[in-house]
Amino acid sequence: MIRDSILRTIILFLFFNTIAFGAKVKHITWQKELTFEEYLKKYNIPETILDTLDNEDELLVSDIKANQKFYELVASNGVLLQALIPLGEELQLHLRKTYEGYDLEIIPISYQKSTYVALLSVDKTPYKDIVSKVKNRALADEFVHLLKQSVNFKNIHKKDKIAIVYTQKMRLGQPIGIPDIKVAMLESNNQKHYVFKHSDGKYYNENAEELVKKYMGKPLKHIRITSKFTNRRFHPILKKWKAHHGTDLGAKRGTPILAVADGEVIFSGRMGGYGNVIKIQHKDNYVTLYAHQSRLKAKKGDIVSQGDIIGYVGSTGRSTGPHLHFGLYKDGIPIDPMRLVKFSSDGLTGKDKKAFLNRKRRYTKIINKIFDENMPSYVWNTIDKLAVMPKMKNYYKKRGW
Ligand SMILES: [Zn+2]
Repeated sequence: MIRDSILRTIILFLFFNTIAFGAKVKHITWQKELTFEEYLKKYNIPETILDTLDNEDELLVSDIKANQKFYELVASNGVLLQALIPLGEELQLHLRKTYEGYDLEIIPISYQKSTYVALLSVDKTPYKDIVSKVKNRALADEFVHLLKQSVNFKNIHKKDKIAIVYTQKMRLGQPIGIPDIKVAMLESNNQKHYVFKHSDGKYYNENAEELVKKYMGKPLKHIRITSKFTNRRFHPILKKWKAHHGTDLGAKRGTPILAVADGEVIFSGRMGGYGNVIKIQHKDNYVTLYAHQSRLKAKKGDIVSQGDIIGYVGSTGRSTGPHLHFGLYKDGIPIDPMRLVKFSSDGLTGKDKKAFLNRKRRYTKIINKIFDENMPSYVWNTIDKLAVMPKMKNYYKKRGW
């Protein structure tokens, strides 16, 4: 199915390219604040095309990132023949001219996903070393963000050690999206600081304490999750690709909505399927979005603190009943809010804690062993065999990766 629709796209692209004499493929940038409706207007495409989208799809269309690179195929007479516009990390909007008019479809972006192990010793700073040796700026960002909650980065010295186990999506040889760190370790002053991702998607330190609590609070006083975040899933009945770029929280109309962290309100108004929306810019390039509000309280330009009331729960835009659609973005890319927002007050207990500690023991043992054997800086890819020296692969395999 995935293959089919990608293949179809490519064939159509080539087909149009050949028949439409003078047509040009353009790789261009999505203008900041441009809405999809305005984009359609620019090419005289009727807005009624949006009626073919369901609620969830229309929310995705409101999520086109500022400065997003995308493809257009435009005929010499200025008519848009096709456009491929990414929506988040895994799906793209495919707009194409047909004999009758235009057709709008959401299709997957193809990529490979691999697990990597990066082992480094510090020459300059952890950030600079990860950028220069692993060639992955997003990984450096994530690593520093996770570790700085338990390590003072001012006390890091040359030859301090870094270990990261992570999965990364790759497209055309380039990393795309945000790497998913499973374990990260920084050894400084002979003390090892670990961060582990547990099966609940949250990060904990070696004592099973959740790390995010210092960062973001709850958007509603009482949390009842009605729909979780997904980057993409195939809907078996609709036979369509879907995504949900946020967490839905059930609440009565009029329930106060709270800013999850300090920041500046960068949008307060109507936004397509999201209805009444507030967007808040936080530090480290994070943005939070609060959709479907009945009434907006905060205004654009307001400086808000964590816990401030910014608006009230409603059902505006494409919504089936009162709820808060809560979105979290890093550098414009939607990510799972569960990763940074503390929705429950419980730490890990009982069985969960036991499972966590078991995993922790296994990972720390392996990392320690590898470092004790004084292995050089190395990035190991578990899937792309070409990138792996067979000897090294066996070396890691023996140690349990
Ligand atoms: Zn939602």
